[in-house]
Amino acid sequence: MNSADLLSASQSLEGASPAEVLTWATRQFPSRLTFATGFGVDGCVLIDFISRLKLRIDVFTLDTDLLFQETYELWRKLEERYGIQIRAVRPVLSVESQAEVHGPNLWERNPDRCCEIRKVAPLRSALAGFDAWISAIRRDQTPDRSGARVVEWDFRFGLIKVNPLVAWSSADVWSYVRAHGVPYSALHDRGFLSIGCAPCTTPVLPGEDPRAGRWRGRMKTECGLHSRPLASKG
Ligand code: SF4
Repeated sequence: MNSADLLSASQSLEGASPAEVLTWATRQFPSRLTFATGFGVDGCVLIDFISRLKLRIDVFTLDTDLLFQETYELWRKLEERYGIQIRAVRPVLSVESQAEVHGPNLWERNPDRCCEIRKVAPLRSALAGFDAWISAIRRDQTPDRSGARVVEWDFRFGLIKVNPLVAWSSADVWSYVRAHGVPYSALHDRGFLSIGCAPCTTPVLPGEDPRAGRWRGRMKTECGLHSRPLASKG
């Protein structure tokens, strides 16, 4: 698809349900489509949609080896509930090897470098060979994501990105979760609104931005997986 096709597809899918977007993507990119989930509640909703629609979509997660125990428990729960396998994509360096090469607790001294090693580089490798990937981002999550389209070119990773929940609100997501009994992380009930690696995630206080608990006290707001270069905005 060229950029005009992408824009046209995105415009025609604006307002379509997540089920319609997922079905379109599966037909458009048969066996060349993958879904990367970080086990946030939005990702759990998409897994539920994929399962209910019986869509054959590869699903993987970036296992940094620094996830919360609750995240690993949710991973197994989702696999059992939906009868699927969620592949683990891991960084080249173990946490111990990273400490030997870059010093201990790199996330405290240079979280961008740590995210590059443990998330961005593994994602780049994982997406090679696919034509399109699905993400669970929503426009209302961050200013950076507010310009995301239903279907867009991912300049950072060089393939098409499909965002079935892009127009949903947090309330839409939780309404769906309650209506369909979708499993979600126990951490959400303890004030964690956005969940990443354990060393970099804290609960969010009432009135705070939903992502305020990520890299608290730093300017950093994204891992680099969904950052939108200027060329992709608009
Ligand atoms: Fe490292 Fe924190 Fe990024 Fe995880 S979220 S990869 S621990 S900096």
